[in-house]
Amino acid sequence: MRMTKAFIPTLRSTPAEAEIISHQLLLRAGYIRKSAAGVYTYLPFAQRVLKKIEDIIRDEMDKAGGQEVLLPIIQPAELWLETGRWHVYGEEMFRLKDRHDRDFCLGPTHEEIITDLIRGEVNSYRQLPLRLYQIQNKYRDERRPRFGLMRGREFIMKDLYSFDKDEEGLETSYQKMYQAYTNIFTRCGLKFRPVEADSGAIGGNVTHEFMVLAENGEASIVYCDDCDYAANIEIAPCQPVEIGNEKEDIKPLEKVHTPNVRTIDEIVKFLNVNPQKCIKTLFYKADEQVIVVLIRGDRNINEIKLQKVHPCYSLELATEDEVRDITGCKTGFIGPVGLKEVPIYADLEIKNLVNAVSGANEDHYHLVNVNGNRDFEVTGFYDLRFVEVGEQCPKCKSSLKMARGIEVGQVFKLGTKYSEALNAKFLDENGKENLILMGCYGIGVTRTMAAAVEQNYDANGIIWPKSIAPYHVVVIPISIKDEDHIKNAQKLYEQLIDKGIEVVLDDRNERPGVKFKDADLIGFPIRLTVGKKTVIEGLVEYKLRTEQESIDVPIEQVVNKVLEYLNT
Ligand SMILES: [Zn+2]
Repeated sequence: MRMTKAFIPTLRSTPAEAEIISHQLLLRAGYIRKSAAGVYTYLPFAQRVLKKIEDIIRDEMDKAGGQEVLLPIIQPAELWLETGRWHVYGEEMFRLKDRHDRDFCLGPTHEEIITDLIRGEVNSYRQLPLRLYQIQNKYRDERRPRFGLMRGREFIMKDLYSFDKDEEGLETSYQKMYQAYTNIFTRCGLKFRPVEADSGAIGGNVTHEFMVLAENGEASIVYCDDCDYAANIEIAPCQPVEIGNEKEDIKPLEKVHTPNVRTIDEIVKFLNVNPQKCIKTLFYKADEQVIVVLIRGDRNINEIKLQKVHPCYSLELATEDEVRDITGCKTGFIGPVGLKEVPIYADLEIKNLVNAVSGANEDHYHLVNVNGNRDFEVTGFYDLRFVEVGEQCPKCKSSLKMARGIEVGQVFKLGTKYSEALNAKFLDENGKENLILMGCYGIGVTRTMAAAVEQNYDANGIIWPKSIAPYHVVVIPISIKDEDHIKNAQKLYEQLIDKGIEVVLDDRNERPGVKFKDADLIGFPIRLTVGKKTVIEGLVEYKLRTEQESIDVPIEQVVNKVLEYLNT
């Protein structure tokens, strides 16, 4: 490809709307353009990156027994009414009507469509297992589409659905996909972690998320360097950690005047007490019911865990008025002592606290020497907090670390959720009718491209991993007015093409500085510069995008050097 012919409209400045690095760089480097909020056009260089990611995915899906299909984007409402998700999906679903006033949606996902296909076509165990996948657009009408390709309303996904006759088969499908995903993200040149994750509304089922590690990632991950443990902090289990005063003698309960002392920080200062000894009391509104949560003063409540203990659709902190109705005081002075007729969920660590501090349920008063067994009763003790750096790994007891990640894939055992709702059955070896066991396995293709940028960039632009770079090499003649420069560059360009290397010749009439800047911004893995040194000494400047320094390579060795780099 010649740069003068390439449609790669780079920008000199960063568009103001772009909040995160991948969004900024993909716009600036001429990969994407916005068509509407959360809807993008992929320009030729982006399309090349996406195709490379898709090719890697296809190869691994096929190796794992997948067969590619293409399911419709437009889906009839009837199927979604059958599973009950037409209403559950709410405003996130793009809905439309045809000329006969029939309801349809733009597929946010494809469980309904594919299960409908399978119930019509599969009726015997002999037809199982089956693993079908597609690479297809998905539509979700996000309330706040943002972060470029990270949270779009139209995006490309690979989704595979597995159909098995028993648990053992489902486990095999799951393991095959887990391994395929590991291969895919490794081949894409990304640093990632499979992590144990929240199974959401279905609960109890096995699921892993594949996270690309990146500073700006939305998700927090705890992981262990000494074993393979890694989990999303939403679900990472916590063991109670002792604070060292568990042997202290239990002292008499005391009420102390604490004027205007409302926060944990203020209490710590005012009473000169360790925050670990304070009981943080939180009132939540769970649907229509008020519930109380107790947690140590130095910890953070994990609402996802709380929602597992107390299942509800909506969960938010109670208002000041709701708290006053129950306790008769302001939120800064509430505590568990004397609370009645509300469920009290206490974190596991509350159980071990001796002579703790809490609010007195009276404005401007706190209680000291609060002891759970003696002074208040709880509904139960549960793991309700977020794990923290340095706590013990649940597998090997080593010390946990934390990182941020971008979820690019998820593997999920669905079981019979959809086959039951849509009546997808088969006859087993004994002629008995059974529900088909399903799994679903997604990869965000456009998201993977953005995540690759989030993980691989510097102040000058994108640093594509070589396996997914739009082109491998850019050849830059220093001056296009110098015939010798052009001739050498042209020759090198043709030699590289002959070897099947994807190369761009920057034949624009621009200063070398401009070309170097664009080469860095676009993110070619290898830059070859042809100039005076080439003409006089037969040397080409060879520079990797990942390195600061360039080296001089004899022109006749350049092609091999490039091949060597690309093949390792
Ligand atoms: Zn470990």
